[in-house]
Amino acid sequence: TTPKSLPLRVNNLRKEFGGITAVDGATFSVEEGSLTGLIGPNGAGKSTTFNCITGVHEPTSGSVHFRDEEITGESPHRIAQRGLVRTFQIARELEEMTVLENMMLAPGGQSGESATRSVLPGLRSGVVAEEESVRERAWETLEFFEIDHLAQELAGNLSGGQRKLLELARALMTDPDVMLLDEPFAGVNPTLEEKLLDRIHELRESEGLTFLLVEHDMDLIMENCEHVIVMHQGRVLDEGPPEQITQNEEVIEAYLGG
Ligand code: ADP
Ligand code: MG
Repeated sequence: TTPKSLPLRVNNLRKEFGGITAVDGATFSVEEGSLTGLIGPNGAGKSTTFNCITGVHEPTSGSVHFRDEEITGESPHRIAQRGLVRTFQIARELEEMTVLENMMLAPGGQSGESATRSVLPGLRSGVVAEEESVRERAWETLEFFEIDHLAQELAGNLSGGQRKLLELARALMTDPDVMLLDEPFAGVNPTLEEKLLDRIHELRESEGLTFLLVEHDMDLIMENCEHVIVMHQGRVLDEGPPEQITQNEEVIEAYLGG
């Protein structure tokens, strides 16, 4: 069998904040078309890893390769253009805009903490991208997540779960091929969680999207991921199929022992 390609490779990644080492030499890769889980106790360095991969933080050392090109330290905007995106919480400024406006601002506005910065100049001058193709894609994506009936609602009025759907929908506007999801089900009710998971699997099947998912719920990881990476204290403690990593004493210890 031919080995699958690895669109995302993280090598010896390190990130320090002052005296704190948030990521301490993490090495892993993500297989094409997979739904890979990234788990680990609070403070293990999962979110910081995502931030280093997507250009929100500049790594202290180590490298990130996307489709065999080194992207370490590139801007979030450039990385998103390459097709590697993460979801971001709806920024306060965007709560006062409608769901549809949020969707139409999304291309190029997927820069995390700086999303507001890249979006605000447009906001101030009242410019919202008007290209018909963008509008069409926005509607299609809202329909896909079954939130098109909320298109004219202010984003700030959405429920927690609806917000999560919008966050995912916005990220999809950039037409990614690898998506990083950091606890996308937090605060989402079971019905909506099912819907989100269905959409994720559907995107894998129909568009060949690859997902790296940070999630606490081990049952959800076991049922949905074919590969799991376990982080602990900034490093990769173990990785493999879920049935394997849950047998690892060290992994059990890291969870139960904090
Ligand atoms: P996880 O997402 O696995 O819970 P994080 O990546 O958020 O872990 O955090 C890893 C460690 O890095 C924690 O000790 C956290 O306090 C620290 N940390 C994360 N972001 C920052 C930051 N911007 N400044 C200082 N310390 C940070
Ligand atoms: Mg986190």
